[in-house]
Amino acid sequence: MKNIDNYTFSGKKVLIRVDFNVPLDGNFNVTDNTRIAASVPTIKKVLNGGGAVILMSHLGRPKVGFENKFSLKHIVSETEKLIGQPVKFAPDCIGKEAVELSENLKPGEVLLLENLRFYPQETSGDIDFSKKLASLGNVYINDAFGTAHRAHASTTIIAQFFPNDKMFGYLIEKEIFSVSKVLKEGVSPITAIVGGAKVSSKIIILEQLLNKVNNIIIGGGMAYTFAKAMGGNVGSSLVETDFLQTARDILAQANSKNVNILLPEDTVAADQFSNEANIQLFDTNSIADSWMGMDIGNKAIKSFTSCIENSKTILWNGPVGVFEMENFENGTKAIAIAVANATQKGAFTLVGGGDSVAAVNKFKLSDKVSHVSTGGGAMLEYLEGKELPGIAAIME
Ligand code: AMP
Repeated sequence: MKNIDNYTFSGKKVLIRVDFNVPLDGNFNVTDNTRIAASVPTIKKVLNGGGAVILMSHLGRPKVGFENKFSLKHIVSETEKLIGQPVKFAPDCIGKEAVELSENLKPGEVLLLENLRFYPQETSGDIDFSKKLASLGNVYINDAFGTAHRAHASTTIIAQFFPNDKMFGYLIEKEIFSVSKVLKEGVSPITAIVGGAKVSSKIIILEQLLNKVNNIIIGGGMAYTFAKAMGGNVGSSLVETDFLQTARDILAQANSKNVNILLPEDTVAADQFSNEANIQLFDTNSIADSWMGMDIGNKAIKSFTSCIENSKTILWNGPVGVFEMENFENGTKAIAIAVANATQKGAFTLVGGGDSVAAVNKFKLSDKVSHVSTGGGAMLEYLEGKELPGIAAIME
């Protein structure tokens, strides 16, 4: 299969689907350029190989047609700064001007197309729109993992026009490699840490993990549905009563598959959902009425940390407490540190598919783990074992 490292880009016009969906302030300044910076290695690889680059992206969720606040013209100068060279701009992603600009593009030059989502045909995956985009280049690279779970024109449908000249960029390659390192080639002991608010949004991933891992650590709001399902008193903690049986089924499956499930022994609870609330520590199975579990306690931190630090492969999806509030961040911080320590001891560690990404960033540990995924929803679906259309379209 062709890939970005073995392909000859010399003289080619290379369409790259990037994720430049960056936040802008009221004056249209880029407030966080992480996503643009992340795509630089792929862009540079093509330019250094003698190709010309045509960048395509979406920005925000425009309704129909042009909306100034969603125009990619606002990010031209930030892109120029990060790539270190001028970037041309096509004020319409298809049509006469885009065709002329791409025809006149010379090797080593970069052209950015206007927001693809100014056309509803982008998200509907329209074939004619895809064909028009495809006509601008002769190679297609998908490097936008965050939209790989959507069969949009620029992420999926376009690929069929490049049967022999389509490939992943470095960002997607790393996401695929990281998931494969955990779910296909994981070295035991393999531990998944699954947290976040609700069981309902994590059922498929939990069921998938039961066939792949040795330990599952369950934290966050979802732990209380499990605790209640086993007969515990969880006070006014978040509980999804419709999912009590699901929780029991997952525990039974884990038992029959020899997967060790770790639930938090103790809980830091609050008398209201607020950082200013009164705080009390309880055993997770006997939380007093009107108190709600907000974070894992010290006993849980100890046993979770020990499990994590003895693992060789770790997947972390979702915080184990309401880490956005300073008084309830301890547990999630301890998990982040344990995952970083395990990485240092040689474990492969992947953080992705939930707010755990925000957590490792908050605790400034993102460069101390093996991989932090850039694609929230896409990563969750990928970990659930679903085929992502944007990935399948390149593999086909
Ligand atoms: P997710 O997007 O599934 O990773 O869920 C993340 C959210 O779960 C975060 O906003 C956390 O504040 C929330 N969360 C974590 N622990 C709890 C808890 N004990 N009770 C309520 N929400 C929680």
